Amino acid sequence: MSTSNIKLYNTLSRKLEEFQPIEPNKVKLYCCGPTVYDYQHIGNFKTFIVENLLVNTLKLANYDVNFVMNITDVGHLVSDEDAGEDKMMIAAKREKKKSHEIADYYTNKFFEDWDAFHLSRPDTTCKATEHIQEMIDLIVRLEENEAAYVSNGNVYFDVSKFKEYGKLALLDLEKLKSGARIEVDENKRNPQDFVLWFTKSKFENHELLWDSPWGEGYPGWHIECSAMSMKYLGEQFDIHCGGVDHIPVHHSNEIAQSEAATGKKWVNFWVHSEFILINNEKMSKSTGGFLTLDDLRKDGYSPEDYKMLILGTHYRKQLNFSKDSMDNAKRNVEKLRNALLKLKNDTNEISQVDDSNKYLNDFKSALFNDLNSPQAIAVIWKLLDDKEVSASEKLGLLYEFDRAFLLDLKNWKEETIEIPEEVSQLLEQRQKARDDKNWAESDNLRDQIAELGFTVKDSAGIQELIKV
Ligand code: AMP
Ligand code: ZN
Repeated sequence: MSTSNIKLYNTLSRKLEEFQPIEPNKVKLYCCGPTVYDYQHIGNFKTFIVENLLVNTLKLANYDVNFVMNITDVGHLVSDEDAGEDKMMIAAKREKKKSHEIADYYTNKFFEDWDAFHLSRPDTTCKATEHIQEMIDLIVRLEENEAAYVSNGNVYFDVSKFKEYGKLALLDLEKLKSGARIEVDENKRNPQDFVLWFTKSKFENHELLWDSPWGEGYPGWHIECSAMSMKYLGEQFDIHCGGVDHIPVHHSNEIAQSEAATGKKWVNFWVHSEFILINNEKMSKSTGGFLTLDDLRKDGYSPEDYKMLILGTHYRKQLNFSKDSMDNAKRNVEKLRNALLKLKNDTNEISQVDDSNKYLNDFKSALFNDLNSPQAIAVIWKLLDDKEVSASEKLGLLYEFDRAFLLDLKNWKEETIEIPEEVSQLLEQRQKARDDKNWAESDNLRDQIAELGFTVKDSAGIQELIKV
């Protein structure tokens, strides 16, 4: 089957470009995965949802996609610029556990949420701690090419040896030098140099240590993505993804060390997802303002509602998270659910979709044009409103669209919540307490109901029950 043309915005050129894979019909794609020291918030998942949309749009265009994602379980310091403690060690101390226990716990939780969002699993998921030798080998290559130097025990990448340093972020090294901030690490020759291997830990009881040619220590953060992506995808591959926050440091450093090691162009397309904001600030763990999927569920929203929110805005636009925007997405999911259930009710047949179908082509054209998911959603609404199209044809089309959106439409059913007898009784008692204006008792009963897995919301004098 022939592949379709896709246009993608390439951060490297700042232009919309026709996508061309290195090998015909095949796409080799790498995404920076989670740092597993805490729960992944819905901001992180915004980027993972966008990346998955890209993977599945490529599949819809008949590409054979090899999708690799890493798990960062060592090396990511508090600051992306080599300062502060390793995030894994902070979590290990906070939770009084071994760092591998922290990594296992948060990796499992991450994939639980990943599956709840119906995302496709990567073909390869690779952990940094299981690829230390590959990182050491790459650093040795950089030393051989004189792009790395040892200073006071640590190994640094020398940005002056890579003429194109900062090409992704359009950084001007000369300007950066003249306006350099006060240098924090005096072992660096240039302020932009970054650590490839640490042997001088500033922190005691650093549990994550390996032998290396430079002494016992641990890798810097950036080297893991270069080493693992090259191991699984080769020294040159098609697409690298991540959130926009990674452009100036992490991805700029990944390019520098990869290309300085191989002497070749590393990645052809860089695709970056814009942030989700909360109160006009980036949703992040460090600023404290972040929500997880479980928080959304407590407020009565489903993973599909959140996915609809993300798909409803183009991936390169910032998205402000608010209750209003979530309510709007939830209404759209309900509208789709009602229409879908009616179709399932009206027919037992699902038509095979013809390649020449106008709706299929409109849907694909939207996504193939730099993942224009809001326009693709508009095609869905138009299809559902079209009285000329039969129910079985509509179902066939919706299921075809779902190959890219992954909303799990085939399994959508009427939402029925079983309310246990105990909860019904507590609700009755709470209604009585509220009628008597006994607010303390009402709050107490709300807590008891919450312990049984339900949230009560009071709207217009009526108790609304939400399953958590
Ligand atoms: P981390 O676990 O911090 O390494 O982040 C995992 C992914 O989430 C990276 O690709 C980040 O760029 C992305 N990310 C972090 N915060 C946000 C946000 N507020 N909105 C969208 N993506 C984000
Ligand atoms: Zn990375």
